[in-house]
Amino acid sequence: MSAHVAIIGGGITGLSAAHALALDPRAREAGIRCTLVEQEPRLGGKLLTERIGGCLVEAGPDSFLATKPWAANLCRALGLGDHLMGTLPGQPVYVAFRGKLYPFPEGLALGVPSRIAPLVRTRLLSPLEKLRVGCDLVLPRRREATDETMGAFIRRRLGDAVVARLAGPMLAGIYAGDADALSLRATFPQLLEWEASHRSLVLAAMARRKTMAVTNAGSPSPMFLSLTGGVGELVEALVAALGGPQGGGNTRLVTGRCVVRLAPVVEAGRRCYALHLDDGGTLMADGVLLTAPAFASAALLEPMAPQVASLLGAIPYVSTAAVTLAFRREEVRHPLVGHGFVVARDEPMEITACTWVSSKWPRRAPPDLVLLRCYLGAAGREAVLEEDDGRLVSLARRDLRRTLDMDADPVFTSVSRWPNSMPQYLPGHLDRLEAIEAGLTALPSLALAGAGYTGIGIPDCIRQGTEAAVRLAEALAAGPPRV
Ligand SMILES: Cc1cc2nc3c(=O)[nH]c(=O)nc-3n(C[C@H](O)[C@H](O)[C@H](O)COP(=O)(O)OP(=O)(O)OC[C@H]3O[C@@H](n4cnc5c(N)ncnc54)[C@H](O)[C@@H]3O)c2cc1C
Repeated sequence: MSAHVAIIGGGITGLSAAHALALDPRAREAGIRCTLVEQEPRLGGKLLTERIGGCLVEAGPDSFLATKPWAANLCRALGLGDHLMGTLPGQPVYVAFRGKLYPFPEGLALGVPSRIAPLVRTRLLSPLEKLRVGCDLVLPRRREATDETMGAFIRRRLGDAVVARLAGPMLAGIYAGDADALSLRATFPQLLEWEASHRSLVLAAMARRKTMAVTNAGSPSPMFLSLTGGVGELVEALVAALGGPQGGGNTRLVTGRCVVRLAPVVEAGRRCYALHLDDGGTLMADGVLLTAPAFASAALLEPMAPQVASLLGAIPYVSTAAVTLAFRREEVRHPLVGHGFVVARDEPMEITACTWVSSKWPRRAPPDLVLLRCYLGAAGREAVLEEDDGRLVSLARRDLRRTLDMDADPVFTSVSRWPNSMPQYLPGHLDRLEAIEAGLTALPSLALAGAGYTGIGIPDCIRQGTEAAVRLAEALAAGPPRV
C-alpha cells in the first residue's frame, strides 16, 4: 500500500510542498498520495491579488527577491516564465526624515554604504554621523560569539544614525520588526560573514560591489520580481498544476477545513497520524508537514510533543495592515519617480513605508491613476490596528499629505489586515530551531516548514516547502512505516 502525506496549511509553503511531492520521482514511483488541508475557503495564505477599479491590488506580498532563485524557478517550472517581470534597477527609494523625503545614498548593500561619494553627499546623515560610519574602517571585529541583534550590530559598526535612517528601516521593514529586537544571525547572516571576512562592513560592501559589477557587466539585474498578473498568479498556477497532469492525480486539495487535533496512532500495524478536522472528519496520514504559522502548529503538537510546542509557541508574530489608495494622476503633484519610501525611526508618522505601486510596477494601474500602498502596524506599533478601516485610511492620508503633499481625495481605498502575520526571529532563534528539530526526531515523518523558521519571504517559503517534501518522499518511498 502506498503512503499518504498530509500537508496542513495552503499558503505558498504548503502549495510548494504539495507541488514538489507531486513531481518527486520517488514519490511518483511509490504512488505517494497527498492531501493538503487549508482552513480558509481560499488557497494562497498571505498571497492574495485582487482587481479593484481597473487596478491590480496586492493585499499581501507584491514581489519576491530576485537574488533568491526558488520563486522565479518555480514560476518558470509552472510555465509562468514569460509573466515574470522585474522592477527597473537603479530607481530611488527614499527615507522619510523630519517631514521630507531623502533618497537612500546610491550603492547601499544590505543597508551598508559601498560607495564613498554618495555617502558624503547624503543629507540623511550629519557630518559627525558620516565620520562615525567611517570608524567602521578601523574598528576591530567583535570577539564574543553570542547572537547579537541587528540593531546592536549595525550600531556597533556604523553608528546610531545608520540604525535609525538607513539599514534599520530597510532591513527591519522586511520583518515588520524592530532592528533592536531581531537576531542578526537569523535574519542577515551575510553581514556577520562580512565582518568575519573583511572586518569592515564598508570594505566588504565595496568588494561585493566590484564582484557584482563583473558578474552583471552590462545588464543590471532587478532586485525584485513579480508576475504580470500579481503574485496570486503563482497560486493559481500551482493549484492548476496540482489538479492537472503534473499533479499525477495523487493530490487532493481540501479547503474550508481546519485541522483541530493531531495524534500519533497505530492502525493495522501502521504507524501513522490522525488529523481531526473541524467537521468531525478524520484523515489518516503516514507523514505530516505542518506549514501553518508556528503558534498554530504549536497548538496541534502540544498533546504529543509539549516541549516542541512550547518552543514553537515562543516564536512571536506581529500584526500589520496594508492600505492601498488610488488617486487621479492629474490631482497628484509629486512626480513619484522611484519605488517609494521607508520611514526613519522616531518620525511622528503612523505608516512605516509606502510603495509607489504605479511607478514600481507601471502596468498595475491604468495610466490616469496613481496607486500607492502604505504599511501600518509592525513590532511595537501594533496598537494602531485597533482602529477601524476608515481611521487607518485617514492616518495613511495624513502621512501622505506630510511626505508627498498629497491632499486629493482617493478614487478608492482598500484595507488588508494581517493579524499575527510576521514572525520575529529574535536572538536565539537558530538555537530554538535546532532544539525543535531535535524534539521532532521522536515523531517520524513529521516536519515543519514556513515563514516562521528559516526565511520569511516567498522564495524561502518555497525552498522550505520543497525541501521538506523531498525529505518526506525519501522517508516514505519504501511504503508506510510499520511498527
Ligand atoms: C502585508 C505583507 C506583505 C508581505 N510582503 C512580502 C513581499 O513583498 N515579498 C515576500 O517575499 N514576502 C512578503 N511577505 C511575507 C510572505 O508573504 C509570507 O511570509 C509568506 O507568504 C508565508 O507563507 P506560508 O505559507 O509560510 O504561511 P501562510 O501564508 O500564513 O499560510 C499558512 C496557511 O495555514 C493555514 N492554517 C493555519 N492553521 C491551520 C489549521 N489548523 N488547519 C488548516 N489550515 C491552517 C492558514 O489559513 C494559512 O493559509 C509579506 C507578508 C505580509 C503579511
